[in-house]
Amino acid sequence: MPANDTIGRMIRRHAIERPTIDAIRYEGTSIDFVTLAARAEGVAAALADAGIGKDDRIAILAKNHPAFLEIWAGACMVGAVLVPINWRLSPREIAFIITDSAAKILFVDAEQHARLNEPLPRTIAIDGEDYRAWRDRPPIASPTEIDPEHIAIQLYTSGTTGFPKGALISHRALLGGKDIWRHLDWWTWVPEDVGLVAMPLFHIGGIGWLLMGLETGATNHLMREFDADEILALLDRGGFTKMFIVPTALQSLLHAPAAATTDFSSLRTILYGASPMPMPLLREAIARIGCNFAQQYGMTETAGTVIALGPDDHRGEQPPKLNAAGRAMPTVELRITDTEGNVLPPDTLGQVEIRSCANFSGYWNRPDATAEAMGEDGWLRTGDAGLLDADGYLFVLDRIKDMIISGGENIYPLEVESMLLEHPAIEEVGVIGLPDERWGESVAAVIVTRDGAALDQADLRMWCRERIAAFKVPKTFIFIDALPRNASGKLLRRALREAHAPQPAATA
Ligand code: ATP
Ligand code: MG
Repeated sequence: MPANDTIGRMIRRHAIERPTIDAIRYEGTSIDFVTLAARAEGVAAALADAGIGKDDRIAILAKNHPAFLEIWAGACMVGAVLVPINWRLSPREIAFIITDSAAKILFVDAEQHARLNEPLPRTIAIDGEDYRAWRDRPPIASPTEIDPEHIAIQLYTSGTTGFPKGALISHRALLGGKDIWRHLDWWTWVPEDVGLVAMPLFHIGGIGWLLMGLETGATNHLMREFDADEILALLDRGGFTKMFIVPTALQSLLHAPAAATTDFSSLRTILYGASPMPMPLLREAIARIGCNFAQQYGMTETAGTVIALGPDDHRGEQPPKLNAAGRAMPTVELRITDTEGNVLPPDTLGQVEIRSCANFSGYWNRPDATAEAMGEDGWLRTGDAGLLDADGYLFVLDRIKDMIISGGENIYPLEVESMLLEHPAIEEVGVIGLPDERWGESVAAVIVTRDGAALDQADLRMWCRERIAAFKVPKTFIFIDALPRNASGKLLRRALREAHAPQPAATA
């Protein structure tokens, strides 16, 4: 990656070096790099005419669509900042992001437009004539000179632990963060590789993965939204070779009826991450698909993956580090600290801290949250609890905010969830702390059983006692039909707590 690279310059470079390679395939159409660059330059010209310039925000609210990339690259060419919005949010939450970011233009698809409330900034329908006229314009005459430190995207965090925050991510963080993959001995893109982008482009998981292929000058197959049957059909046609997928999506893929007869042989690598991977699911996927597996750990604030668990750690009968998140990527610094910020020795639980060229530049309009997350020395306090072993493997325990304190003991919900997921009749589980007069908090497990199977609470408690310390065994089991998850498939423990705290039913 050239030192002065930006998203705009990178796309122009590929247009010169590999003009006829497909940059994007989408719903039966393809866009080569030269067309992508021309459309981005057209959008840039239209943005400049609309009075959009350096540091202005423009928002996009749409299911995955090639226009996302054309608009993003076009915005970068005039120094504007793209604000992708999660289409799963309510109209009120969407309005918050539009107002918070002060977006001057909103790009929408027809489906999203229909459910928005006024007032809105100027809107452009990406599936309409107006947008086609924008992208097909003659290229911008003089693109704005942009420094790699300039903000390329304002990406709202998933809001798993609180209200979403607008993370400011520079060109340096995005492209530098992808460049470090080249230094891994197990990672390659060959010209035949096609990446599947089925995760949403309003989260770093989807964007980071789109950029992996793009930065290499390779082809990405973009999918409007995750659809297990469509992915399996595409695999049968050998339509892609690499994909990034979140654990819940991998579960839907493997458990779709068509998966029983799917030919997975074209698949070379599955990258998974963004939330904890249940071990039974991972073992099943490795046994059934048999390609390379690699785990990614990262966050919006690190512009995506900074820790990875490579394919070698997924091989063999009982891979010893299979439940690790991985090791720091080349040039990434990783440490564990206590509540005072002291660096802890190996195998000691504390807060995960990360420093790398991919770190973000702060939160938009939130100096308090920025200061809380980032020290003067550039270390990011991730809010995740974890430990590093003597070999440099990171084990992520949980979010610090989700820790349950019961009778003075610290309990990490993820540990209890992982244990319960080994139970053959449990499909999904969320563990939360409920207010408890005697213990402060008590452990509750909210369970979705496989095929609606009925479980006896006393039996389940016995089963847990054999596997985990007594103080971690849930006092309450609650059975429901589905767990609340966000668009990345992350479990919303906050929503679970809100739903179950007032009337802790089913206490045995
Ligand atoms: P918010 O910050 O608004 O609460 P969020 O943290 O869920 O939302 P993201 O930046 O999308 O928003 O997610 C990053 C978080 O996801 C990490 O801090 C970590 O808790 C979790 N995560 C990411 N990768 C992994 C992984 N491989 N294993 C376990 N957890 C992961
Ligand atoms: Mg976070």
